Amino acid sequence: MTRESIQLEMNFDGTNENRFKQRFDLGEFQLIAELPVPSADTPLADAVRRASDFEYLVHSQEGPKASIAFVNEAPAGYALDMVQFATELCKYSRDRHILYLHGRDNSLKDILESVRHAHSEGFKNFCAVTGSAVPGESEAETRKHVFLESVNILGAIRDAALPSISIGATVNPYQYTPESALAQSFKMFRKLANGADYLVAQYGWDMMKLQEMIWNLFRREINIPTVARLMFLTPDNAEQVCAGGFHGVNISPDFEKLLKIERAHSFAQFEAAQLRRIQIHAAGARLLGFSAVQIAGITNVALLETVFQKIREAFQEFKTFEDWRTAYREYYDRLDMAPYPNEFYLFDKLLETDLPTEPLSFESGIRPPTGSEKFRRKLAGALFANADKLPARERRLTKKLLVSCRSCNLCRLPLTDYVCPETCPKGLANGSCGCNKADNGCELMSAECVYAKRLRIANSRVDYSSLEDGAVPPIEDRP
Ligand code: SF4
Ligand code: SF4
Repeated sequence: MTRESIQLEMNFDGTNENRFKQRFDLGEFQLIAELPVPSADTPLADAVRRASDFEYLVHSQEGPKASIAFVNEAPAGYALDMVQFATELCKYSRDRHILYLHGRDNSLKDILESVRHAHSEGFKNFCAVTGSAVPGESEAETRKHVFLESVNILGAIRDAALPSISIGATVNPYQYTPESALAQSFKMFRKLANGADYLVAQYGWDMMKLQEMIWNLFRREINIPTVARLMFLTPDNAEQVCAGGFHGVNISPDFEKLLKIERAHSFAQFEAAQLRRIQIHAAGARLLGFSAVQIAGITNVALLETVFQKIREAFQEFKTFEDWRTAYREYYDRLDMAPYPNEFYLFDKLLETDLPTEPLSFESGIRPPTGSEKFRRKLAGALFANADKLPARERRLTKKLLVSCRSCNLCRLPLTDYVCPETCPKGLANGSCGCNKADNGCELMSAECVYAKRLRIANSRVDYSSLEDGAVPPIEDRP
């Protein structure tokens, strides 16, 4: 497709059109290419000029339609304004693309303002993320930042009711303990209840976990578009993956060994291995029932063109789930993809059958709360049952002794099963961040994720509503 014909096609856009969403509605599989927003010190014109071939390639794809996901994982102020960059870059068809909304150091007011601005420029698709700690940041440094939760972003955008809008949410299905898998699962359903129109799975390489996510939705009869995020590995980011340098990306010792072997090969051999890998994973995601793949880690336009081409070829090569499964198993040659000794899956027989044959059963996998946890929960429940309706400073000393209160200005204890959300370094009250280690240790502190305790308490009470229902409101400032 030439630039002129693209321009002609785009000039007839309807104002209420949202082609990204329509393709989901029509069941058309989509390819999404991630484009990180350039750093703040890049002149806007240079940034746009450098990305223009990327944008042209995405628009000119034959076969499965392609879109751009504009992402920004840099701390606030370190990247160009996303809406401005995307608006300058995409003169047409802005309803095909996705803008990521990052909650770190952001307020609902600012996010809504940005969404309204983007929407007025023709962008209709967004994806809410809570945000991460900056690599190398300590727990104490992270605690100085506000993490506006994606659940709250979703709810606010849903309530704004902008026409033709579609808002997605991220999920990290690569969780290998009962507590971490369940915490992500409950958070996923909470995001859907708060208005997520589609879900984007964090990147990983264990296809059983992608099927687990699809089955988990299926068992509740939820039919929603799902996107599998895949990372194209370069020697540098493969090294980082092996070193645990990506938040929430936990690989198995077997896969780590394989990546190290591949890294010892020539660059051409390494790249050929990664192209085959992206083919296997993209084709697998499609056959498992995902609606799109989102490719991260693309470093230049030539590579993007090759990756798109290879994925199209893989779609021709693998026509059935059985063909693909055989190839996947041969490719990984019985490699264990779970990070031993943590190898929990929500379902048996993943990749064995097309549909889950048994209901989810997890209760027995979760340890009971400790005596101290039970005692504190009981006492806090009796003492602070109305704490969310009273000034937060009420009974501050007792809260400090009982639940390690850090003196915030909006007590949310009754909404969080009396586990103080501020004991989480990011202050998350609506669910785990998904950036935990494979054993469910917190990524920032030398303790387990606070959601393990929430799971134990909820499980012992057989009441999961505090993990899944409604939304816990955000606070403006961290204590
Ligand atoms: S939510 Fe936690 S930090 Fe805030 S007032 Fe309640 S107990 Fe204290
Ligand atoms: S406690 Fe859990 S949710 Fe909070 S930062 Fe650590 S891993 Fe994330």
